[in-house]
Amino acid sequence: MAGERARVLVGVRRIAGCDVLRCAASSLRVTSGRCLPKIRENGNMSESGRGALSKAGHGRSRLRAGSKLIPTVVESASPRVGDSVRFINVIPILSIHLLCLGVIWVGWSPLAVVVAVALFFGRMFCITAFYHRYFSHRTFRAHRVTQFLFALAGVTAAQRGPVWWAAHHRQHHRHSDREPDPHSPGLRGLLWSHVAWFLSDAGIKTDWSVVPDWAKYPELKWIENNHMIGPALLIAVLALVGWATGGVFPGSETSAVQMVVWGFGISTTLLYHGTFTINSIAHRVGTQRFKTGDDSRNNWLLALLTLGEGWHNNHHYFPGSARQGFYWWEVDVTYYVLRIMQVLGIIWDLRPVPERVYDVARREGSGGSSAAGAER
Ligand SMILES: [Zn+2]
Ligand SMILES: [Zn+2]
Repeated sequence: MAGERARVLVGVRRIAGCDVLRCAASSLRVTSGRCLPKIRENGNMSESGRGALSKAGHGRSRLRAGSKLIPTVVESASPRVGDSVRFINVIPILSIHLLCLGVIWVGWSPLAVVVAVALFFGRMFCITAFYHRYFSHRTFRAHRVTQFLFALAGVTAAQRGPVWWAAHHRQHHRHSDREPDPHSPGLRGLLWSHVAWFLSDAGIKTDWSVVPDWAKYPELKWIENNHMIGPALLIAVLALVGWATGGVFPGSETSAVQMVVWGFGISTTLLYHGTFTINSIAHRVGTQRFKTGDDSRNNWLLALLTLGEGWHNNHHYFPGSARQGFYWWEVDVTYYVLRIMQVLGIIWDLRPVPERVYDVARREGSGGSSAAGAER
């Protein structure tokens, strides 16, 4: 097996050794030598693993592995350089953008605006807490029924199902601004990373090989295949609320159509671009506390907008923590709400930021020196 190159390797089982590696690497040379670093099933790499991969130049040069390896070579479902946007994939998101123009005819009312803002932040939380920190990184635990409710709440954001979201996000972390990172601005530009990558044929597919931990739940497969029920239900409820409120309280100056335009059209469009900034701007604008080897940045403004996701360099350095703002002044609203949910017993085992990560921040980070000895 020595010296054999696997173009895309998603499963390597070491027979005589200790680790099982599940890694999608675009160019991987398997040679005899030493233990493979361990990459957890949830897509997070152990720190020792990240260090070993970093030394090996993962994504840039070569991995070295033990002597007995069985590689499984398959095509990655990630969008790549050369993929193009398909118009049929554009229609749903374009329609939601066009729905915003309805405001010209339906006007506004205080109630419609409040509902739009509430749905923006409420669904932003569903994306960051559930799609990202739970389904992508498994940074806390929950009952299976609660897990299904997370998925059900998440699909109302019209960002497809949680498994699709997690699969592409895990690919992003594994390759981080190297091929086949699905949405790196450094590879294909800001527009691609912001909105175009998921409109390609590969971008719209779900690669279940990247998310084997979720494949055993039929209820998640069902919601993945029927993710459109989220937006459909939300639109129906908004129309009903707008119709009933406008009828019972004419002074509210709202209606079914106005509530749909604001509560779904405008709110979802803003939610889209708020979420997408983490894939685009958070890899371009901001500071780097940790030398992650990618373009991830900490950006306080994006963190406020996205309820904590803007601490993206922190997150790229240690994606296994439920917390992304590593210090008290790094506002991370999602984490605060998760703490409350833990106190209430809804979730448990919130994974913390390890002390050794703070040591690295103090020692090496650009923001680390000022953070030395600081309260967390
Ligand atoms: Zn990133
Ligand atoms: Zn992540």
